[in-house]
Amino acid sequence: MNKLSKIIDDLDENELELIKRDLEAGHIEKLINQKINEKKEQDFNKVCPVCQTPIDEDSLTLIFGPKGLRRKASFCALDCLQYFVNKIKAERAQGEDRLVSRPIIRREREP
Ligand SMILES: [Zn+2]
Repeated sequence: MNKLSKIIDDLDENELELIKRDLEAGHIEKLINQKINEKKEQDFNKVCPVCQTPIDEDSLTLIFGPKGLRRKASFCALDCLQYFVNKIKAERAQGEDRLVSRPIIRREREP
């Protein structure tokens, strides 16, 4: 039996009626979509886009891009965040203000 069937099995008649009403009103679909988006946001980057180090709780997150096209990126440390910001700054100075649609820049590894 899957998780959802188990949960439904444990509910009483009153709770089932309430859920049925939520389902018919489209609330459950909305809730599921919202949860999926939250999960996607949590997993948006598991490694630092600059040095590929796995991201932990101490990461620094930057939200950037124009309104409606906001993007988030987490960095392992301040120097990687700084490197990324400097890259954006340099590109803006060159008039290349299209970072949002471009792949994330990677720092060359030192030999
Ligand atoms: Zn890094």
